Amino acid sequence: MRGAHRVSRGWDVAVVGAGPAGSATALLLARAGARVLLLDRARFPREKPCSEYLSPESTRVLERLGQDVLAAVAAASPARLTGMKVVAPSGRSVVGRFETFSFALPRTRFDTILRAAAEAAGAEVREGVKVEELVYDGGAVGGVIARDAGRGTRDAYRARVVVGADGLRSVVARRLGMVHTAGPRRIAFTAHVADVPGVHDLGEMHVGRPGYVGLGPIGDGVTTVALVVPVAEAERGSRFFAELDRFPAVAGRFDPRRVVRRVLATGPFARWSRRPVASSGGGGALLVGDAADFFDPFTGQGIYSALRGAELAAAAILNTLATGASLGQYARARRLEFTGKWLLERLIGIAVGWPALVERVVGRMLRRPELADLLVRATGNCIPARAALTPRVLAGLVL
Ligand SMILES: Cc1cc2nc3c(=O)[nH]c(=O)nc-3n(C[C@H](O)[C@H](O)[C@H](O)COP(=O)(O)OP(=O)(O)OC[C@H]3O[C@@H](n4cnc5c(N)ncnc54)[C@H](O)[C@@H]3O)c2cc1C
Repeated sequence: MRGAHRVSRGWDVAVVGAGPAGSATALLLARAGARVLLLDRARFPREKPCSEYLSPESTRVLERLGQDVLAAVAAASPARLTGMKVVAPSGRSVVGRFETFSFALPRTRFDTILRAAAEAAGAEVREGVKVEELVYDGGAVGGVIARDAGRGTRDAYRARVVVGADGLRSVVARRLGMVHTAGPRRIAFTAHVADVPGVHDLGEMHVGRPGYVGLGPIGDGVTTVALVVPVAEAERGSRFFAELDRFPAVAGRFDPRRVVRRVLATGPFARWSRRPVASSGGGGALLVGDAADFFDPFTGQGIYSALRGAELAAAAILNTLATGASLGQYARARRLEFTGKWLLERLIGIAVGWPALVERVVGRMLRRPELADLLVRATGNCIPARAALTPRVLAGLVL
């Protein structure tokens, strides 16, 4: 602990970060009767650099979070996506369809719905509170120290379990010393643009040399546009629209005068925790959402992982609170749930750095459209990732 701080009363769980991972975890815990404190350094509604598409299976998790949550999302005038178009560097493209549809809506709206639902379930929410340190009791994590910008105070919040749901640059993960980084090192720039021609019910992924562009509708005639480039190219982001013109099927589609939200930047990605749990005697800390792992945005699975991870985290924490069992069960549950997804997103994330390979895979999928559907459904979490990882499917995509 560094510096003077005030100590507030104890909680069962302190959740750091009220994005999808933190709000969903807090909601589930509070609904089950736990005393939950949910802290976020931002004030909502807050922006998050994202392509803002919820993979189809996210709808099932929202349903489990509560019919009221799903109804609020459906009422927030989201776009409905029926599939994904992948465009190779040459401009050739292939479409993979979901069996169902997915929602896409601004994160300002989506995250505010989840944060409000957590509060309605009984979590105490404090905004404008930035967590800076962990509190240790006899070597085990026993709370957090946070700065409240509004009140000008630095406070210690004691809790049996601390949940790090504080995103890509998680302070909880860093303080636990569990962060691992790897290649490819990419960075993203995202904007909202109105009246983009040709954008209807598909997300579009345009692969170029180097980097890629993701775009898709998010309702109200607005398209979210994400440019993802290697870190070495990052300074070019200041020429956002000029960079988009390098992609043949994107060039000329954006009117810079129709930008309706400033360009946001984030990255680099490919960060994950070696172990998402620091368990000790019926308490400790765990990581969920991007704080636990985020490899690359290409497959658009981050929100699903945050929500599904929240379900796994809440189940483990409730068991720990009730029985004193180790939080280690959470690490096992994540491995069982996400190993296939981790492998698939890494394969795809690395492959999109090889334009010639993307060209080949798009060509194969044009000949065998069922492979495009399979890949899009696997990355949409509609079917298990392992369905796309069989030797037969992989050979069909590249040979
Ligand atoms: C360019 C890009 C495009 C993407 N597109 C998609 C997509 O289309 N679909 C998809 O599913 N995923 C997408 N993702 C991934 C998705 O945005 C993330 O996986 C998702 O937001 C993770 O949710 P989270 O709750 O873990 O973290 P976040 O949403 O980042 O929330 C973390 C919260 O923690 C708070 N916080 C941070 N530090 C502190 C602190 N010290 N103290 C208190 N609070 C703190 C932040 O204010 C924030 O509210 C994309 C990502 C990028 C970069």
